[in-house]
Amino acid sequence: MTGPQVVVVGSVNMDLAVRVPHLPRPGETVPGGELEQGGGGKGANQAVAVRRLGARSALIARVGDDEFGHRLRAELAEAGVEVAGVGTAGVATGTALIVIGPDGDNTITVSPGANAALDPAVLDDHSGRLVTADALLLQLEVPVATCLAAARLARAAGVLVVLNAAPLPATIGAELRELIAAADVLVVNEVEAAGLIGPPGDLPVLELPSALGRFGPSEVVVTLGSRGAVHTGPDGSGDVHVPAFAVAAVDAVGAGDAFCAALAVARADGTTPLGAAVRRACAAGALATTGRGARAALPTGAEVDALLARQGGAEGADGATGTAS
Ligand code: ADP
Repeated sequence: MTGPQVVVVGSVNMDLAVRVPHLPRPGETVPGGELEQGGGGKGANQAVAVRRLGARSALIARVGDDEFGHRLRAELAEAGVEVAGVGTAGVATGTALIVIGPDGDNTITVSPGANAALDPAVLDDHSGRLVTADALLLQLEVPVATCLAAARLARAAGVLVVLNAAPLPATIGAELRELIAAADVLVVNEVEAAGLIGPPGDLPVLELPSALGRFGPSEVVVTLGSRGAVHTGPDGSGDVHVPAFAVAAVDAVGAGDAFCAALAVARADGTTPLGAAVRRACAAGALATTGRGARAALPTGAEVDALLARQGGAEGADGATGTAS
């Protein structure tokens, strides 16, 4: 297998979704459609996305010793993700209970289960895989202490650390601050950016990345949904906006995961500048919106290349500029 090696330390969930004519009020029972079951969890989704994009992908995670756990592990292996680091814990597999209303509005309840049992000791057995990787990709659905330990190991070995600080907890503790500071690249969406910075005041969206730079990472990317993304410029120059790619979007679920995976893969080669990596990530995020669900439309590297060729200049350009509206 060729391509850069990306290691993901993160979550694995079983997503259980039901579509309903209206979201239930507390105490109300609403009959819904057929139960939809699918692999989820930001860690697993990003690991699958990395592999789809053509890089080597290894996941360090925990599932329960139960039917969901065995099934999800097998699905990940089937998708080409290295699962030697996906062990079992003595609690149930992480599960997300999703209720989807008629307009796509939803409520999601997550039982972290085995994800919460991914303690730093897991790295004792898998540090070899981590320190020889080209990039480490992290999210916040497993204990911050484990992410921090992984980030430190990676950094000490010169491995690029990409942190998708999602979902952002209500309180930003000292350990999370340390983790953010230990990242080379920080990726957040607009809501998470505001959560980190505090009351937004009059700070324009296009200045969020450099405002977040004070948390430590030298490279910061803020995703803006259908408006694309904005990232810190090279050598402290102003923030740069990358417009979204025009696609027939049907479902934004999975866009953020595809974006983070593509960014990590592009930066993992050690030569692609941040602007070009963000353009690839925007293309991957856009393509992921063209199918329903988190993994249905994860693009291949060739599909990203094709979209870049169709819409927007030479590959390797250091980010198209524009104005977020
Ligand atoms: P999250 O789901 O984490 O909040 P976003 O919604 O910001 O992430 O989406 C991640 C990226 O996916 C965006 O930066 C953008 O490049 C791309 N994207 C999302 N929605 C669309 C869309 N409707 N059209 C084109 N690109 C999109």
